[in-house]
Amino acid sequence: MNKVAFITGGARGIGKSIAITLAESGYDIVINYRTENEELQNTKKEIEQKGIKCLTVKGDVSNFEDCEKFTKEIIEEYGKIDVLVNNAGITKDTLLMRMKKEDFTDVIDTNLVGTFNVTKNVISYMIKARSGKIINISSVVGIAGNAGQTNYSASKAGIIGFTKSLAKEVASRGILVNAVAPGFIETSMTDVLKEEIKEEISKTIPLKRIGTSKDVANLVKFLASDESSYITGQVINVDGGMLM
Ligand code: NDP
Repeated sequence: MNKVAFITGGARGIGKSIAITLAESGYDIVINYRTENEELQNTKKEIEQKGIKCLTVKGDVSNFEDCEKFTKEIIEEYGKIDVLVNNAGITKDTLLMRMKKEDFTDVIDTNLVGTFNVTKNVISYMIKARSGKIINISSVVGIAGNAGQTNYSASKAGIIGFTKSLAKEVASRGILVNAVAPGFIETSMTDVLKEEIKEEISKTIPLKRIGTSKDVANLVKFLASDESSYITGQVINVDGGMLM
């Protein structure tokens, strides 16, 4: 039986690229989505055309009951989850002076509490299996901070603390937990910026280009694989050298 990889927010952006890359590596794929749309159907189709099974499960990661429900659906279908990628995330950028309480709590609830909600439900099955890989998508701004992103940076820094603590808790059960910290990656999340600003950002990156979703997916693929069996509790940047 193929290994099963579960990617939250896997219908588009970085999550989609991770789902496709893991499908190409022979994992059966489960994609969590919040919004039913054409992008979701296209991603599912693209995976199935590779001869790989793709289950889609609806749910808002910030809602614990949703996470409980979709985890059960996955277990009913596959009986296991070998790899969990906590990818779903949002931004609500603004300076703290202008930030509404909801701008802060919505971002924390999706990015950080969402990572807890999904992991808490999935991990019991990994513990029973005495194996598993959990890969949490953080960000370089969770390490370095960024003006206009107090909410987002706090959520991504929180994910790093969560990753390290959980890695220590579950190492003895054969479960490896790592975080990936992307730099500036071309997706709809970063599409809001003007071309001139993107060019300015590229100039500050040692590798002189904005990252692609595939750059992130390749690292996730490595962390999901047996090749990374002596790596846990780490935060690995994929940022073209932006943060060093
Ligand atoms: P996108 O906005 O392109 O995609 C985000 C995905 O998350 C969508 O599929 C979205 O679903 C899903 N999502 C958002 N909120 C929820 C929720 N409450 N429940 C379930 N799914 C949800 O973003 P990216 O692909 O750029 O980002 C993916 C991850 O990478 C995020 O965690 C982000 O913070 C992180 N990251 C991105 C960087 C970048 O430069 N792009 C840099 C560093 C980190 P829906 O379609 O329903 O909205």
